Amino acid sequence: RTKGNYFQHAAVFDSGQMEQLLDEHTLLHDVEAALERREFEVYFQPKCNMLTEKVVGAEALARWRHPTRGLIPPSTFIPLFERNGFIKQLDLYIWEETARRLRRWIDMGHRPLPVSVNISRTDILTMDVCAALEEILRRYRLEPSLLELEITESTYVNQPEAVIRTVERLMRRKFTILMDDFGSGYSSLNMLNNVNVDILKLDMRFLEHNGQKSKDILESVVHMSKWLDLPLIAEGVEYQWQVDFLKELGCVYAQGFFFYRPMPAEDYEALLLDGRAVDFSDDGTLRIDQ
Ligand code: C2E
Ligand code: MG
Ligand code: MG
Ligand code: MG
Repeated sequence: RTKGNYFQHAAVFDSGQMEQLLDEHTLLHDVEAALERREFEVYFQPKCNMLTEKVVGAEALARWRHPTRGLIPPSTFIPLFERNGFIKQLDLYIWEETARRLRRWIDMGHRPLPVSVNISRTDILTMDVCAALEEILRRYRLEPSLLELEITESTYVNQPEAVIRTVERLMRRKFTILMDDFGSGYSSLNMLNNVNVDILKLDMRFLEHNGQKSKDILESVVHMSKWLDLPLIAEGVEYQWQVDFLKELGCVYAQGFFFYRPMPAEDYEALLLDGRAVDFSDDGTLRIDQ
């Protein structure tokens, strides 16, 4: 690299970026203590059947209740933790917290709906995800069908051996695998032919624009999920027009602010208690056709 290039790089390293780096540095400094002090929390965002408008499950989402900064969203710390090796500890914590809640709801006498947790590509590459999850299930006496697993499409894409092997093993152990952010730009029909997955979660960018062209694209993705025989959950549903769009195309399931925002465990628990919001009519398996 030439000197000229070097200085070019130095020049784009502005004060904003400097601030961000310093900020990340202090955040990382706090992580270990934060885990010990249990500052991380699991929020639950319900998934709905749009036809019945009832809850069919939820996604567990990490939040950091920082003593001085307040509630920090995962977009601030997940990528950072992935780069710095903390993601493994955080995810183990979130998976366990989720299992603990599920056990609590069963003990309270409720039939809990499945909850999905997120698995980072880094987790797959740095630990035995299957063994870790089975250990958690054992400790909380849970069936694998209750703890569903979300893996983003980009993790699947390059298909390193470790990812293929891990996913196959998880499926043999009866975990349900959801492909997160489906259609976010990397997948192809061909890839899906070779990949093991149970449920697709439609990337929320498909719902950004309200127009005929967006509708056509969305339609082809919904059809694709049907050809593949896979249930589809639309993510990021915020407006009535999106609900109408999706229903018209035959997409049954959705997760989004239109129905519910991610909420503290206690609020989700209250929702579970309120039978009116919860769909216990089937065995928990999602349908493919409307
Ligand atoms: P994700 O797994 O795709 O989760 C869905 C995200 O979409 C959540 O953001 C949720 O709050 C947001 N969302 C849901 N409905 C709507 C809507 O109607 N409108 C809008 N604008 N957003 C909506 P969140 O909680 O901020 O999480 C962001 C990402 O951080 C997640 O995306 C996931 O990739 C990652 N993440 C969150 N928790 C964990 C975790 O425990 N472990 C790991 N490895 N990653 C996590
Ligand atoms: Mg997810
Ligand atoms: Mg994910
Ligand atoms: Mg997603």
